[in-house]
Amino acid sequence: MRDFAAELENRKQAGLYRTRRLISGPQQPALVSDGVPLLSFCSNDYLGLANHPDIIRAATDAMPETGLGGAASHLICGHHDAHHQLEVRLAAFTGRSSALFFSTGYMANMGVISALAGRGDTIFSDRLNHASIVDGCILSRARVRRYPHGDMDALADMLAGADGHKLVVTDGVFSMDGDIAPLSELAALCRAHDALLVVDDAHGVGVLGPQGRGSLTELGLSEEDVPVLIGTLGKAVGTSGAFVAGSQLLMDYLVQKARTYIYTTAMPPAIAAATCTSLELIEREDNRRSHLQSLIGEFRRQASLLGYELMPSRTPIQPIMVGDNWSALALSQALEAKGLMVTAIRPPTVPEGQARLRVTFSAAHSREDLSRLLAALAECRSLINRPSAEAV
Ligand SMILES: *Cc1c(COP(=O)(O)O)cnc(C)c1O
Repeated sequence: MRDFAAELENRKQAGLYRTRRLISGPQQPALVSDGVPLLSFCSNDYLGLANHPDIIRAATDAMPETGLGGAASHLICGHHDAHHQLEVRLAAFTGRSSALFFSTGYMANMGVISALAGRGDTIFSDRLNHASIVDGCILSRARVRRYPHGDMDALADMLAGADGHKLVVTDGVFSMDGDIAPLSELAALCRAHDALLVVDDAHGVGVLGPQGRGSLTELGLSEEDVPVLIGTLGKAVGTSGAFVAGSQLLMDYLVQKARTYIYTTAMPPAIAAATCTSLELIEREDNRRSHLQSLIGEFRRQASLLGYELMPSRTPIQPIMVGDNWSALALSQALEAKGLMVTAIRPPTVPEGQARLRVTFSAAHSREDLSRLLAALAECRSLINRPSAEAV
């Protein structure tokens, strides 16, 4: 029999044991965690929409019309008018011909990748891709080649020697580093090698590009350049779920083949209705993005001056590199003692020796919130014995 207790004890010894906080109240920078008020810098609610009154009202207004439960899968009798309207809205938002609404980003990646590649095919996946992409690759039973993070020369060499259908998959914005994939180069390489490109823009949607239309729109990459776009709705969009956007033919294909679309209950339609309202706010309110960018710029300047090592990121994901697991935990705990919540991210979420604090910003943070974080970081600098960014 498997010794659960011993395995868990090993994890604890390695500084890898994970625990859950109990949050009460809505998601916002001022959180109540296990009964203690904390200022949070760790959610993915980048635009501060998770608790927006207009979006909440859209959900509650929809419910008398739609009821609550999804009740059946989309292919049985769960495909509601509200889901359809959201798909039309998402296609327009992303500048694609059509879109398909999934229940979560995890399921979208699992379903799309395993539908588009199979035995005899080869998938090329960036080493730092999200866990749901890694699992989608495994589920597909295709041969999987992981290329070094963002390394287009290595990818070109791998593509040249591959058999079967070729599929290249990447995060748009990398979830633990905050950097952006070389998307234009990827599009060109995929065209040259007749490979299908899949971009998961979970952290770009709502944040990057004109009106928050995402990383691909920012670069002017069309449906021809990137045939398969995946986005999630639980992060900047502030609701729940995910989508795939691309050609009508692709959606028709996925409806037949994506098992995580077919064999799961449809999302409550009221969530789809609320998401439409959120997309309107995202398109209309540029001030959220400009405030967010000014917080990010100020954080990077000040944290670098304090001697913290940051990553080359211009997104709301701003990791502070620490290195070993215990120091990352110690820094996170010291900040918490000062009333701040910043999560330590450890292996296997990031590579061994690259433990970090993952600081994330939201348009709901105020200048004062940022000042509190920077003041606390100034006091905690001595907790990590890593050379300062300037010294390297
Ligand atoms: C969060 C995330 C997902 C998963 O999305 P959920 O809707 O939370 O399941 C997928 N891909 C990336 C890159 C993510 O960061």
